[in-house]
Amino acid sequence: MRECFELRNSDAGGRIGELTVPRAGVTVETPALLPVINPNLDTISPRRLAEEFGAEILITNSYIIYNTDDVRERALSEGLHDMFEFPGAIMTDSGSFQLSEYGEITVTTEEILEFQADIGSDIGTPVDIPTPPDVSRERAAEELETTKERLEVADGVDVGDMLINAPVQGSTHPDLREAAARHADSTDLDVFPVGAVVPLMNEYRYDDMIDVVAAAKRGLGADAPVHLFGAGHPMMFALAVAMGCDLFDSAAYALYARDDRYLTVRGTQHLEEIEYFPCSCPVCSSRDPADVRELPDREREETLAAHNLHVTFGEIRRIKQAIRAGNLLELVEQRARAHPTMLDGYRTLLDHADQLEATDPVSKGAFFYTSHESARRPEVLRHRQRLERLSVPDSVFLTEGDGDGPEKYEAAWRVKPPFGPFPRALSKSYPLTAEVPTRVDRGALEAAAAGVTRLVESSPNSEFGLGHLDWPAGVLEALPESVETIDLTESHRS
Ligand SMILES: [Zn+2]
Repeated sequence: MRECFELRNSDAGGRIGELTVPRAGVTVETPALLPVINPNLDTISPRRLAEEFGAEILITNSYIIYNTDDVRERALSEGLHDMFEFPGAIMTDSGSFQLSEYGEITVTTEEILEFQADIGSDIGTPVDIPTPPDVSRERAAEELETTKERLEVADGVDVGDMLINAPVQGSTHPDLREAAARHADSTDLDVFPVGAVVPLMNEYRYDDMIDVVAAAKRGLGADAPVHLFGAGHPMMFALAVAMGCDLFDSAAYALYARDDRYLTVRGTQHLEEIEYFPCSCPVCSSRDPADVRELPDREREETLAAHNLHVTFGEIRRIKQAIRAGNLLELVEQRARAHPTMLDGYRTLLDHADQLEATDPVSKGAFFYTSHESARRPEVLRHRQRLERLSVPDSVFLTEGDGDGPEKYEAAWRVKPPFGPFPRALSKSYPLTAEVPTRVDRGALEAAAAGVTRLVESSPNSEFGLGHLDWPAGVLEALPESVETIDLTESHRS
């Protein structure tokens, strides 16, 4: 068990956890947002981030500090905490990003980790190789070997009680990501950034991003805190949390503000285009867009950055509440409607329903069926798997109706889309208490039919009938031929 990370609640792959950062003497509740501080110019001071926005942790770049003489001297003499006047935890990046942008940097993992420890960082980072998406397997594998070597070096450097990041690379090759994660997990390092996903997010490739995270998660233990490195747009936090990410860092709040861009959980808007602020943060409730447009550059940037941070932290709180309430996937479904590429991300998340099922609680508040994607949720999958373990009478009428069906059947079980069949005694247990729209869609019926099929195939000695309410022929055709089907629509109406 990793001592620095403790899990509290989970929902799908998402979790509320506590990251203990010994050097800072603080515990950070996850999912957490790390605002990015540029040591050379801060839009909103670190102290304000803590006091006004409740930031418990931030991230800054040790390589920039290392290469800026006056900042380096200050950092070495005062330490980052005093220099930034920040009471929470401070994570430092190593310059790997600069490496990916400019091709080389002039520092080794050992040097930069010791420097990070010297300036008082609480969580340091080795110099890994951020392999971009879509490169050949050969290149990804070769660069991964270098990253692994750097992690082993990092594992041996004496940095006191500073925690160390173990970045997981491997480009868009899932097997390499998984192997990289397994290797990182085998070290004594502490926090696990999934690296080089920024190009995927810049191109709105949320489907590929989810595949990459899912692969990394397969190689990591459940007790490994996972950082989606470079992800700062609140629109995709719920999706990433549901796949198991715990930490996010945002430079976006400041960078977007600089370009007059206004973040929302449904995407980004330009200040020019906004007539009414769709937000009730202190910034937006005290002025309207026209007022903000009139502000001088510096003040306008700071004002927008403050809103961007409010909406970003607000989304993190909403996600935590959703995990507590057990409706994280319903939040993901809402967010998925913001952009078609987000919907791709959500659909890809559901491709990993078996992986999510492993951490999804057996019982939650309520299951709301809010789109045909709901039929692929891990709760539905789990119910279907559970059917194989139920004891089944010799002959059963599976029915959407209230009656017992033809007399020849020994017992009657209920059928409820999208779950499928179950003994009536289970009607009041989760997730069969689900709220499902009366106007059922085909996705739910197909899932229910898959449940019937699973039950029939796992009980070869029993006979089955199905009483359904006007299921389309295409759905009925998918059932095993041995199942007698009766349309109950007429009798149900009368
Ligand atoms: Zn606002």
